[in-house]
Amino acid sequence: MHDNCPVCKQKFELETGFWFGTGYVSYALGVALSVFNLIWFWLFIGLTWRDNSIMVWLAVNGVILLLCQPWLMRISRVIYLYFFVYYDEETASLLEEK
Ligand SMILES: [Zn+2]
Repeated sequence: MHDNCPVCKQKFELETGFWFGTGYVSYALGVALSVFNLIWFWLFIGLTWRDNSIMVWLAVNGVILLLCQPWLMRISRVIYLYFFVYYDEETASLLEEK
């Protein structure tokens, strides 16, 4: 990951340990993805206490979460940065003219 934005030079790590907060965003995204996986698994494959379908869902969900981890990490950093850095359209258009 860059230290600064290649276009506008915005510093990404605003203070030491700034990225610790992304853990909470990443956690929320992980829970949301798990709920999404639970819903489609329930609808298309089926979940019941009578067999081990819940264990199958746990395994499938774990694999999907692992595969999505690089993407979840980056997207949570973007979301976290958006909490603190405002996108200014005028400044952006000025930078484009250069
Ligand atoms: Zn930028």
